[in-house]
Amino acid sequence: MNCETVHVALGARSYDVRIGAGLIETAGQQIAPLLARPRVAVITDETVAGLHLERLREALADQGIAMVSLALPAGESTKSWPHFTRAVEWLLSEKIERQDLLIALGGGVIGDLAGFAAAVLRRGIRFVQIPTSLLAQVDSSVGGKTGINAPQGKNLIGAFHQPALVLADVAALATLPPRDFLAGYGEVVKYGLLGDADFFEWLERNAPALVAGGSALRIEAVRRSVRMKADIVARDETEQGERALLNLGHTFCHALEAATGYSDRLLHGEGVAIGCALAFEVSARLGLCAQEDPSRVRQHLRATGAKTDLGDIPGPLPQADTLIDLMAQDKKVVAGTLRFVMAQGIGRAFVTSEVPREVLREVLTDALAARGR
Ligand code: NAD
Repeated sequence: MNCETVHVALGARSYDVRIGAGLIETAGQQIAPLLARPRVAVITDETVAGLHLERLREALADQGIAMVSLALPAGESTKSWPHFTRAVEWLLSEKIERQDLLIALGGGVIGDLAGFAAAVLRRGIRFVQIPTSLLAQVDSSVGGKTGINAPQGKNLIGAFHQPALVLADVAALATLPPRDFLAGYGEVVKYGLLGDADFFEWLERNAPALVAGGSALRIEAVRRSVRMKADIVARDETEQGERALLNLGHTFCHALEAATGYSDRLLHGEGVAIGCALAFEVSARLGLCAQEDPSRVRQHLRATGAKTDLGDIPGPLPQADTLIDLMAQDKKVVAGTLRFVMAQGIGRAFVTSEVPREVLREVLTDALAARGR
């Protein structure tokens, strides 16, 4: 099997991300060396359980590892106190001990919730991520941010807790609905845009075949994305500086998610893609990057079928000023100042608080007006 490994270098908290097609079938062999006793707990969602849980059970059983599992409802609303409480109490009722291992099998929702449960159970147990959505494979399963949503906002409750191993099986992506695949692709493009122009060019050449299902191309796209995230996380684990670059497009995305009520009118990765296009538009208006960069970004997103413009979001959106006010509620506000990730070109992002409100208003007003055309 073609398997790539990206090492996340974090001293005593270092771990490998293994990327390949068919990795779930090898999960028993990969996980056995981490176990103090041959028993694991798995948290997943009901959709993923129906598609992939039995394969995991068989792979573990092949190595004599017993598995207990909990399937939570699929969807963002699961990332909340009630489901979190249920998960933690289930782990206790299953007598999961300090030396035991928890497996998160699913998308970013399950990875975030199960990772947070692992962070607090008996003051912290180890966990393995088996991400099954593209977004989770390229982003949420790596880097140790875990948590749930609060009524006051997304991801406001959580902890940094690194996994002990990540197994990204690109074969699992075959069952992912196309819309979720393209949403995850928004995060892939983000990596090229923020720090690797060669990767962006590679995506421009290969995205059609990659979206259509090419396994080798998917492995390469996940590897390059994870490589970039791992390097940034290794230099800035708790986001004191450089890690903020990973938020390219996210300030716009969070405002749009809030404006659409965190509903399925806009998935997170879709908001990231639109947000990246807007960040390049603002950068061009500020004279930071070439005038043609924003259209190149949009052209690429369009060519893959990803959401690109505000016009791709169905239903009403608020005025520009309301969107800007929603941005100000972002977690990246420091001492009242909103920090943006802007770009000096494709692959050259940087963090700044110098983005005048008038320019934001101009870009958003134009983008909203274009919806009607
Ligand atoms: P998700 O977990 O809700 O998965 C999306 C949908 O795809 C769900 O319905 C799920 O059941 C389904 N699914 C997953 N894998 C599947 C498969 N192989 N086949 C069929 N269906 C499958 O959402 P997501 O897009 O994976 O992740 C979004 C979440 O990740 C958000 O909560 C976001 O805040 C979080 N996130 C966290 C980080 C981090 O660093 N921790 C980074 C980015 C995003």
